[in-house]
Amino acid sequence: MDGIAMDDLQFGTRNKRGDWAPSAHPQIAFFWNAPFDFKKWASFLVGYVWPWNVFHMAVTLIYWNYLLPDWQTMKTISWGWALWLYAVNGIGIFAMYGAIELFYYVKRRQGTRFKYNAKFPSEQPSDVFWFKSQNLDNFLRTYLFGIPMWTLAEVLMLWCFANGYVLWLSWSEHPYWLAFLLLMTPVIHEVNFFVIHRAIHWPPLYKWIHSVHHNSVNPSPWSSLSMHPLETILYHGVVWWHLVLPSNPLIALFQLHMAGYGAVNGHIGFDKLELTEGKALESHAYLHYLHHKYFEVNYGGDGLIPLDKWFGTWHDGSKEAQARMDERYQKKVAKMNARNPQNS
Ligand SMILES: [Zn+2]
Ligand SMILES: [Zn+2]
Repeated sequence: MDGIAMDDLQFGTRNKRGDWAPSAHPQIAFFWNAPFDFKKWASFLVGYVWPWNVFHMAVTLIYWNYLLPDWQTMKTISWGWALWLYAVNGIGIFAMYGAIELFYYVKRRQGTRFKYNAKFPSEQPSDVFWFKSQNLDNFLRTYLFGIPMWTLAEVLMLWCFANGYVLWLSWSEHPYWLAFLLLMTPVIHEVNFFVIHRAIHWPPLYKWIHSVHHNSVNPSPWSSLSMHPLETILYHGVVWWHLVLPSNPLIALFQLHMAGYGAVNGHIGFDKLELTEGKALESHAYLHYLHHKYFEVNYGGDGLIPLDKWFGTWHDGSKEAQARMDERYQKKVAKMNARNPQNS
């Protein structure tokens, strides 16, 4: 072990297979239970923006200041600037996802410490994947479908703003509303994701569309945007909210980056990424990891808007949650058997 290695058994347990699980179960946002606990608000707000949303905003500002074509150009849709944005998004994702993949999956700098599934995808070839390789399959789908559809959503959004087809509020005239909307972007993300995600778990849509993403039962960074093209257009379609609500293209772009760059969070596969001695980055990956493992739980995000809790599909890794899921499953099987008695 090197100098930065942490003892993951202080934070969780490892089963016989070597899979690690955190001892502290993820919680829904504290304010649903204690809205007036002002001390908690402070630490909540810090975690709300730092580090992931600060990162997405920094990337958004780089796009805004240096990478977006000028607004005159974007008045007309053309292959030139659309392909430019595809390249920008593709390189950005390659840098971010690729770095996590390289250090934690190829070089395996922290081995399986804090890793939910002891196996690495490269050790498990399977026929469900192109070329039997999860990595290659996921990588190709990201560049063939994920990033093109993201770019399409981005191009249409920018084109609408460039032509004045939608309201473009200025920061100087509407600072409070825009600040509020910016703060709400994670809420919009979670609600949008829950709704479309729950919808594509409806069996016919699941089979046709969403099963592609779920082929990766043990997800890694390249699984994040590895989706059927129709799923990715719905997923990145979160940006349309800013065409309906009075908004500003900077916020719309930030919303899109939260979806595109932020998709990696649920698919990191490690609970913490060790950075320097004693310091680690929280991945926030556990809930979505459990979704990939069990399929019919945790359709939403981190419990900011606890839709899974309200619909009875919240799974925080606890025994109680496991029992609830098993019970739901039994009921479902019983219902199916009642419908087709010959199966029972
Ligand atoms: Zn996923
Ligand atoms: Zn799913």
